[in-house]
Amino acid sequence: TITSINFIFSNFTFSNISEPDSSFFLLVHPLWQSPLSIPGGTRQSPINIQWRDSVYDPFLKPLKISYDPSTCLHIWNNGYSFLVEFDDSTDKSIIMGGPLENQYRLKQFHFHWGAINEWGSEHTVDSKFYPAELHLVHWNAVVYPTFEEAVMEGNGLAVIGVFLKLGKHHEGLQTLVDALPAIKHKDTIIEFDVFDPSCLIPSCPDYWTYAGSLTTPPLTESVTWIIKKKPIEVDENQLEAFRMLLFTSDGEEEKRMVDNFRPLQPLMDRTVRSSFQNTHLLNIEAQPKDHAQQIGP
Ligand SMILES: [Zn+2]
Repeated sequence: TITSINFIFSNFTFSNISEPDSSFFLLVHPLWQSPLSIPGGTRQSPINIQWRDSVYDPFLKPLKISYDPSTCLHIWNNGYSFLVEFDDSTDKSIIMGGPLENQYRLKQFHFHWGAINEWGSEHTVDSKFYPAELHLVHWNAVVYPTFEEAVMEGNGLAVIGVFLKLGKHHEGLQTLVDALPAIKHKDTIIEFDVFDPSCLIPSCPDYWTYAGSLTTPPLTESVTWIIKKKPIEVDENQLEAFRMLLFTSDGEEEKRMVDNFRPLQPLMDRTVRSSFQNTHLLNIEAQPKDHAQQIGP
């Protein structure tokens, strides 16, 4: 299962700029130094989700998530993020419902994060960044025979995005954090059995959905994005543990794994739909003149 996503993250090496007394890394991660395969796409990701512009769709169903913890295989530093990969040879770990017409199999999950807490997520909400974002990647095994084929097709992938915000310690995430020192360097991998990633997904059913792309090469426009409205809370030490990982292999000059997110892409001719009614906007606009009339909660 590793080889199947290797093509997204393969064969990159850092180049150094020659300087009189020092050498330093190019500012652009090697992942982005090759020509991109989807120039001028019309449904690229990530995007800024403008709350007031999203359209409530009453026909959107609740998302159903059914993961079998025993399908979890290993955790891997691929030189851009860390990935937890799953056995996707059967329909044991799947999602269905929501905006999806078929059920989709869980392939892997990974995170994007910043060097500091002020940014790090790929998507933004009303131009606000979160310090990190989780992506759970699923593929349409009903229609396509392999993940590789699904990646190339418009309805091939479904990715659940979950924002991470600074707050309470997250017990479920800690199991992952504890494994990170063992995969500090690029291309290190360890066994990681029996993990249920649904502990990383907020129980609040509300989400936004839109048609988009992978946010790493090959950037194919194959993703139905399902972005959870509610973030999960993690503590500072847990985010710091992400930032201790390295983009670089053992023996190379160490480069911290931070800011591994793609910049925002234009919305173009797309609508972001929401599964929930837009109470956020109503709350802001319906400022009561007499506060005494406000009744909680
Ligand atoms: Zn991602």
